[in-house]
Amino acid sequence: MSLLQAPTILLDGALQPDGWVQVEGTRIVAVGTGSPPLTAGRRVELPEGTLSPGLVDAQCNGAFGHDLVDADLAGWHEVATRLPSTGVTAVVPTFITAPVATLADALRRFRHLDRQLEGPGLARRLGVHLEGPFLAPTRRGAHREQDLVDPDPTAIDTLLDAADGALTYVTLAPERRGAIAAIERLAAAGVSVAVGHSDATDAQVGAAADAGARLVTHLYNAQRPLHHRDPGVVGAALTDPRLTSGLIVDLHHVHPHAVLLAFTAATGRIMLVTDAIAALGMPPGRFELGGEEVHLEADRPPRRSDGAIAGSALAIDAAVRNAVAIGIPLATALTAATRIPATALGHPELGRLAPGAPADLVWLDDGLHVAATWVDGHLAHGELPGATTT
Ligand code: ZN
Repeated sequence: MSLLQAPTILLDGALQPDGWVQVEGTRIVAVGTGSPPLTAGRRVELPEGTLSPGLVDAQCNGAFGHDLVDADLAGWHEVATRLPSTGVTAVVPTFITAPVATLADALRRFRHLDRQLEGPGLARRLGVHLEGPFLAPTRRGAHREQDLVDPDPTAIDTLLDAADGALTYVTLAPERRGAIAAIERLAAAGVSVAVGHSDATDAQVGAAADAGARLVTHLYNAQRPLHHRDPGVVGAALTDPRLTSGLIVDLHHVHPHAVLLAFTAATGRIMLVTDAIAALGMPPGRFELGGEEVHLEADRPPRRSDGAIAGSALAIDAAVRNAVAIGIPLATALTAATRIPATALGHPELGRLAPGAPADLVWLDDGLHVAATWVDGHLAHGELPGATTT
């Protein structure tokens, strides 16, 4: 049994003073504020900052020099080991557009490697996000045009078979031929669908939600924008209560005022995502994203040689700091990186401090930098002040 005490704690989406969390093994057994219970065990008083649920990143292509779609076991291990340094305790590896057969191979490879990723303190992998290949050519961003196809039943079944339960969600453009049937098929198979890289109208996004789509991939980026007579993907995402949208708050992808607009219009339905690529945590240089070369310059998002922005080098703790810096309350920003993505991804047990939940925690210092991270009750990153044992 161990007890963590912090000056501030995120409980039920609100910051509370003098919080504590009691952990036994891999689980949280009690949480509260004020005087903690006098139980035997290890007691750690965190001297500053905020204790939060571990951060959940719903879109991560790679990090620390590794493009996850073709990383080997050592690469996966490094990414899962080091992501907790950014506060991440659960991540959805994202594979971008490639031929369907290639993605099916990547899904099989993921299942094979993921089974071998063992050891305490590794960030959880919440299945795979396939971003493509069923995307709109006009909104393709960094995705290869020649690999974009319609989501015909054969393609969907090929991917579902290869994933064998390891597919969490698929980003697609609902205006593509066969998309509505594909959304229904995926939803029936327990796979979420995100609208993204799409030129869909507001009505087409509504039809996608009717068919079971529940997510929108990187709101504002690579989608039909908001026009007052043609609200597009953005208008639908902001107003349809069924949809939760990812948002890249690196202050390059989306203007701060558009970030504020999203959090205001879609309260409780915005999740911070990184869309990070191999460049995350690395110095400027050349990296790969889905087989394409990408360049990272200092203080800029990564770009393909044709200038298209290709993911980000954003860490999710930096996204939280950026959101707070532009006026989003800390509790809102943290909830958008914890409970909201966990729930939207079908993992309501994650992203919250509550009895029975896995002990995935992050301690942010007063500057909102990650001071320590726990996965399953194991200290995965950081050092703690001296503990007292009773
Ligand atoms: Zn994208």
